[in-house]
Amino acid sequence: AYMLHVTTTPSVSYVTKQDEFDCGIMITASHNPPQYNGLKFLDADGIGIPDDMELEIERLYFDEEPDRVEFHEIGQLYYNDKIIDEYVDEAVSKVDTDAIREADLKVVVDCGSGAGCFTAPYLIRKLGCDVTTLNSQADGFFPGRDPEPIEENLQELINVVKELNADIGLAHDGDADRTICIDEKGNFVLGDKTFTLVEKQMLKENNGGIIVTTVATSQAIYDVAQEYNGEVIATAVGDLLVARKLKDEDGLFGGEENGGLIFPDFVYGRDAVMTVAKILEIVAKEKRPLSELVAELPVYYASKMKIECPDDEKEFVMQSIADEIKTTTDFELDLTDGVKILKEDGWVIIRPSGTEPIFRCFAESDSQEKADEMTEWGLGLIRKYRK
Ligand code: MG
Repeated sequence: AYMLHVTTTPSVSYVTKQDEFDCGIMITASHNPPQYNGLKFLDADGIGIPDDMELEIERLYFDEEPDRVEFHEIGQLYYNDKIIDEYVDEAVSKVDTDAIREADLKVVVDCGSGAGCFTAPYLIRKLGCDVTTLNSQADGFFPGRDPEPIEENLQELINVVKELNADIGLAHDGDADRTICIDEKGNFVLGDKTFTLVEKQMLKENNGGIIVTTVATSQAIYDVAQEYNGEVIATAVGDLLVARKLKDEDGLFGGEENGGLIFPDFVYGRDAVMTVAKILEIVAKEKRPLSELVAELPVYYASKMKIECPDDEKEFVMQSIADEIKTTTDFELDLTDGVKILKEDGWVIIRPSGTEPIFRCFAESDSQEKADEMTEWGLGLIRKYRK
């Protein structure tokens, strides 16, 4: 076994696959505060294991008399402090470093005191950019900001990008598998915009390919795929389902709307170093500001709400809504995860939370007003069948 010290989740995934281990284990709270630390298990491909295996491990752990091996059977533990450099170098080797260096980009990176401190600043410097770091001393108590890279937690980054006239701001969550961009004007770039931007580039470079995402991601992914010879496969929500599908279908690229992008020829999981390298490459090669590149992407408006519903009523509510839509409308239904209703001018998805007594209701349409109306409509359907 290797012991990797403090590092990012995707680097564990990379090492597990690269050095042919049977399993990888990461201790992390991901984007959550430190009290939520848990164990994340990865299979030999570096993909997160499915829920039923996790439950089995929990059962073994909490079992009062688990089978334990003798001390001498545990095997040897090696500290490996070189492997993270190899991981970063591998990402560097996969992009056009000359183009990035020539563009002389000014980059501000906010690691949020998370594990990205050990990868992101080094990566960006190796790519030949001028780097300014924020919150880049690792500290598991996250003194600088909350580890989740949402807009309200990134105000300092936004201000520094504007103050320094930087080309781009980048932020990671605590275990650095998610990446969020701030454009040169200080605008927060939504995760699905980054996803679409990189999708477009990947399809152009590879003359098409299979894109995997979840049923809750933007129509923009489909629009870009159609234009650049891509094929989209949608899974239920969950990054490990996307990663597994990418492997099974030999996919080109995948991701989620929260800024987690997956490059299967690098790591079978959301990866931040490859995402950063790729985005800097795109800005450098296009020779245009990030805000312009984002403005060219298909525009949709999203609306997200949640509503309470007891766990034991969720199945009945979903079934009733699906039945009503089938019998009273022509709308297409997708039951991959919850109930997704596809209308002419947008879609709405109603998904039960696995951990809380709520439904999440997302809608997307060509105007904000319509998207809001659609979520209201979805919430109305839930209220109708909830007791
Ligand atoms: Mg994370």
